Amino acid sequence: MKKHIFIFWLLVLMGTTSLSAQTKVVAHRGYWDTEGSAQNSLTALRKAAEVGCWGSEFDVWMTADGEMVVFHDTTLGEGYDRPIVEMTAAEVCAHTLSNGERVPTLAEYLGEGLKYPDLHLVLELKPHPTQAQEAEAVAKCVQMVEQMGLAERTDYISFSLAACREFHRLAPYAKVFYLNNNLSPKELKAEGFAGPDYHFAIYELHPRWLSQSRRLGLETNVWTVNAESVMRKFIRKGVDYLTTNRPEEALRLTQK
Ligand code: MG
Repeated sequence: MKKHIFIFWLLVLMGTTSLSAQTKVVAHRGYWDTEGSAQNSLTALRKAAEVGCWGSEFDVWMTADGEMVVFHDTTLGEGYDRPIVEMTAAEVCAHTLSNGERVPTLAEYLGEGLKYPDLHLVLELKPHPTQAQEAEAVAKCVQMVEQMGLAERTDYISFSLAACREFHRLAPYAKVFYLNNNLSPKELKAEGFAGPDYHFAIYELHPRWLSQSRRLGLETNVWTVNAESVMRKFIRKGVDYLTTNRPEEALRLTQK
């Protein structure tokens, strides 16, 4: 009997230790807060790979002429009066990022991703004005990822529930994480998604969502964690993925 109790606690201990050791670091918009880099640039993707991130996240829009481009905001910024979805890809890709690179197309971005076979790609599709646009955008993303041979290391994320459903329908083998903070682990499981990818404050509001997700066999991702104290907390809680603008700091903490 004593032996069984000892083995039980040993397993619990091993489980706890390995959970915290398993938190994977995802660079938010690539590793951009470092010299020569910029958000969603090819350099940011490369730097995420170079420092040893598990994955690199990036944001995707579909332009008015049906091309996929990588950029975060709805518009390109000052001096642009139309949103990206109303511009042509040529217009969008003529824009220069803060590090001198041009806005990349998704094809260029995935092409860069091919160079780093250990890096996972976390593709965020931004919510588009209509569901028809989103459905077309999802289909184009999945097709491009599959054609480039990146299906096994690409996860899909979105704030749009419709887009997440479409990703899951077209790529049922892939992990789809929902970003919009408002579905419980049970609801995410029912959708067939991989799990929540929520803001860290949401896990404070719903302190049981991490453990509930785990019990349901879901994975958990937290964004965007930049303060060391918050990083430590979620690593200790055994979150599966931590999305951050400070990947080197997060990597140091996960490797301790
Ligand atoms: Mg994003």
